[in-house]
Amino acid sequence: MPAKRLDGKLLAQQMRAEIAQAVAARSAAGKRPPGLTVVLVGDDPASASYVRGKQKGCAEVGMAGRLHHLPADTPQDRLLALLADLNADPAVHGILVQLPLPKQISEAAVIYAVGARKDVDCFHPENVGLVAAGAPRYYPCTPYGVIHLLRRNGVELSGKEVVVVGRSNIVGKPLALMLMQKRTDANPAGCDATVTVAHTRTPDLAAVCRRADVLVAAAGRAGLVTPDMVKPGAAVVDVGTNPSAGGKLVGDVAPGVADVAGFLSPVPGGVGPMTITLLLANTLRAAELIDG
Ligand code: NAP
Repeated sequence: MPAKRLDGKLLAQQMRAEIAQAVAARSAAGKRPPGLTVVLVGDDPASASYVRGKQKGCAEVGMAGRLHHLPADTPQDRLLALLADLNADPAVHGILVQLPLPKQISEAAVIYAVGARKDVDCFHPENVGLVAAGAPRYYPCTPYGVIHLLRRNGVELSGKEVVVVGRSNIVGKPLALMLMQKRTDANPAGCDATVTVAHTRTPDLAAVCRRADVLVAAAGRAGLVTPDMVKPGAAVVDVGTNPSAGGKLVGDVAPGVADVAGFLSPVPGGVGPMTITLLLANTLRAAELIDG
């Protein structure tokens, strides 16, 4: 039997309807709409497309989406000055600087310059530290999107063997932290799973992956996970988005995995729509934290 589809598009629609309701309730109570400001530097087509998705998401849920599009040769101090203004602007609840940035701008300097309370990407070291301590202000969007996609499709995580392929600061590392943590009222993303993190120095990746009840592929390598690497019936989440020869996006999971896995997220239409939805959820949370 082919794997059940972990449909991120459908779940994102349901979650966005819930967020839109909360936004409408805030405006009925006389509060300003949650505002997300995106800063895009340069003209990278993939970045521009991600930014359009974020603006569309804001419009869908009634948030005030704003865009600052700066030229590719913008000096770092000009971007930092803009961020200082946005940090001080009460109509801006969330700030997101689209990565990657042009060479003359330090990514670390920008991550520090977004005020921690407005850091809806959850990249600021203060917010990363709070997640690691199990006392989060925000959760990082893609990892929390993966957890929602599994939970809301009935995939049990507590006590399960989970393997995460990839250890980046954006996906693999924070996801592994959240999966292994104790679930508490203060830390609802905690999953109580037994977690292994694999990377390019992991010997016998196939054997490590076969142990997994839940396997998350976040390596950015098309077709890395093949059917022989998957335990029959396992849930497989494909975070990868890789350009293919035909111009379409493909994941890290090879097509035949659908015949072995119990659950599988598609690319596109799996984790991608969840990431933007969790960004909207964080923006709502930012408005609650800042405006009450
Ligand atoms: P990244 O920073 O390049 O990290 C990739 C990680 O995968 C690294 O830890 C690397 O190991 C590991 N890796 C690479 N090749 C491997 C292999 N052959 N075997 C085992 N491990 C391997 O990438 P990222 O930012 O985490 O993104 C990963 C993928 O997710 C990309 O395709 C990206 O486009 C996609 N993504 C999607 C979304 C979404 O919303 N759908 C969001 C973010 C990212 P080392 O540390 O040893 O180098």
